[in-house]
Amino acid sequence: MTDRDKLHHLRVPTQDNPLRILMSACLTGITCGYDGSANGTYPGALKFLTYDTVRIVRFCPEEFSFGTPREMCDIHGGTGLDVLNGKAKVLTETGKDWTEGMIKASEKMLEIAQRENIEIAIMMDISAACGSQVIYDGNRFGAHNVYQIGAGVSAAQLMRNGFTVISQRDFASLEILYAKIDSQHIIDATKIDHHETEWYKTYFK
Ligand code: SF4
Repeated sequence: MTDRDKLHHLRVPTQDNPLRILMSACLTGITCGYDGSANGTYPGALKFLTYDTVRIVRFCPEEFSFGTPREMCDIHGGTGLDVLNGKAKVLTETGKDWTEGMIKASEKMLEIAQRENIEIAIMMDISAACGSQVIYDGNRFGAHNVYQIGAGVSAAQLMRNGFTVISQRDFASLEILYAKIDSQHIIDATKIDHHETEWYKTYFK
C-alpha cells in the first residue's frame, strides 16, 4: 500500500476523537530552527492548527538533543536509516559528531509517537532529522552541496517502526488529509507530492 493509499484509509475524525498528527515543531511555527527561526512559513502545514478535528503533537528532535540555537548538521555517508544502522554519521558544519544525539532524539520522537498513538506524521523535508523525501548528502555548505533521496534520522526511525511520514511539500497527500478532517474540503486533484515535481524528477533522473 502506498503512503497515499494509507492516507485514504485513515478514519474520519471528529471533535471528540480528533486525528492525532505528529508534526515537526517548526512546521507549527515554533522557532526551534538551528538559527532560532521557524525555518520559514508553510501555510499548508499551519492550516492543520485551525481544525478542531485534529490534535497536533509537536516535537523538535534537534532541539531536544542540542538546544536552540545550534549548529547546522547533515548526514554523511548515507541516509537517516543508515545512521540508525550504524553505517553513516551526523556531523555539524564545524565537524562535531552529533550521531549519538540524533539517534537519541529519534528514539524520543518514536516514544512520543507511540505514547500518543499517532496516526500520521508531517515533517519538515530536507532536515537531517525530519526530512522524509530528500536530504542533503553530506555537508550542505561549501563545494559538496548535493541532495539524496532518503529520510532524516527521526523520520527514518518513525518509518521503520510503522508510522507513515509525509512532508510539508507533499501537497497531494495534504489534500487527502484536509478532506479527512474537513467534510467541506474538495480535493484539488492538480496538487502533486514532492517526488512528482519536475525538480525532483530532473535532479534524481
Ligand atoms: S529538527 Fe525538525 S522540528 Fe527541529 S527545526 Fe529541524 S526540521 Fe524543524
